[in-house]
Amino acid sequence: MDDHLERSDPIFDRLTYEEYRKRVQYEVIYFVLVFVSGFMTIVNFLTHKGKLTIATFCFAVLCVVNYAIMRIFPKNGMRISAVLFVVEMISLFVFFIVSGNPEGFSAIWIATLPGCGMIMFGRRNTTILCALMLGILIFFFWIPAGGRYLGFEYTETFKQRFPMFFVAFFGLSFFLESLRMATQRELDKAREKNEYMSTHDNLTDMLNRHGLHRIERQSKAGDRQTVVMLDIDFFKKVNDTYGHDAGDKTLQKTAQMVLQVLGTTTCRWGGEEFVAWYPEGIPDRAAVEELRQAIEDTEITLPDGRNIKVTISIGAVEGNESAKLETLINRADECLYKAKQTGRNKIVWG
Ligand code: GH3
Ligand code: MG
Ligand code: MG
Repeated sequence: MDDHLERSDPIFDRLTYEEYRKRVQYEVIYFVLVFVSGFMTIVNFLTHKGKLTIATFCFAVLCVVNYAIMRIFPKNGMRISAVLFVVEMISLFVFFIVSGNPEGFSAIWIATLPGCGMIMFGRRNTTILCALMLGILIFFFWIPAGGRYLGFEYTETFKQRFPMFFVAFFGLSFFLESLRMATQRELDKAREKNEYMSTHDNLTDMLNRHGLHRIERQSKAGDRQTVVMLDIDFFKKVNDTYGHDAGDKTLQKTAQMVLQVLGTTTCRWGGEEFVAWYPEGIPDRAAVEELRQAIEDTEITLPDGRNIKVTISIGAVEGNESAKLETLINRADECLYKAKQTGRNKIVWG
């Protein structure tokens, strides 16, 4: 999911998933409103509704302006465009109510406010916005002082019932938004879990290859990157002698020590191989020898009381900022091969 979004819009690099989703929602709403108000402008023009033509045309243009503000100012653009949009919508709706054009119908468009609001501003802000709109409706339709401004003779039934119709639409939108939020929460949880599982190894809880490559994409390498690759010596014998569960336990213990000594950007590269990557270079080369020694000195006790001791062979390389992680890993693998060939339980720097 994330990977797809990263590719679909470079702006995603700077945004959280939630911000990105919100931005897309704004864009879709503006797009739909430009289309609808543009279409209504044509309808109004063809049916000779002069003032309405101007109003819907202005609204379409303002939606384009709102969209442009959002794109031009990546930081505050969304907030500015949201405030402008609220002012524009309220103004348009007040114009619709007061003018009553055509034959009192335009006021019905106000029913789109709760839905648009929920998508753009969330439940709390939309509730405030709809309360304000309800106040405006009550002022014009139920209070005689407001009724004086109406340029159209609405029926009494319409004036009585329309605010209730609006409240019903608000309630429905509130309910649907609550459902959407609950579903979104579930989806987010599933996405996070999925993301964790796809980037971590199940047995050792360390990063896996995919996880390391993801970190590579997010990091900037310095001019002396270091890659340390290590492999447990004669691990097959551990499985053969003590059983697969004992092999798993050995892997877990080794992974724990690799993490402890070599730090967080370490991954289980495969089987009994681990890779540590330092984009800024290893702070202290001696840590590699410390790890080798620590593993040699460690005894893993099995539930039946037997002890396992293993050693590791290590290949380590350094590269400048332009070196690709994949190339460094291949080079480290060659050094590791040399360490295996020349006696194991040792480090070969390349
Ligand atoms: P070398 O010193 O040359 O590295 O010898 P080795 O025996 O360590 O290497 P080899 O590649 O021959 O064997 C690796 C073994 O690791 C074979 C495979 O069954 C075992 N292995 C791989 N993944 C797991 C795992 O998740 N759990 C267990 N228990 N064993 C694993
Ligand atoms: Mg091995
Ligand atoms: Mg191996």
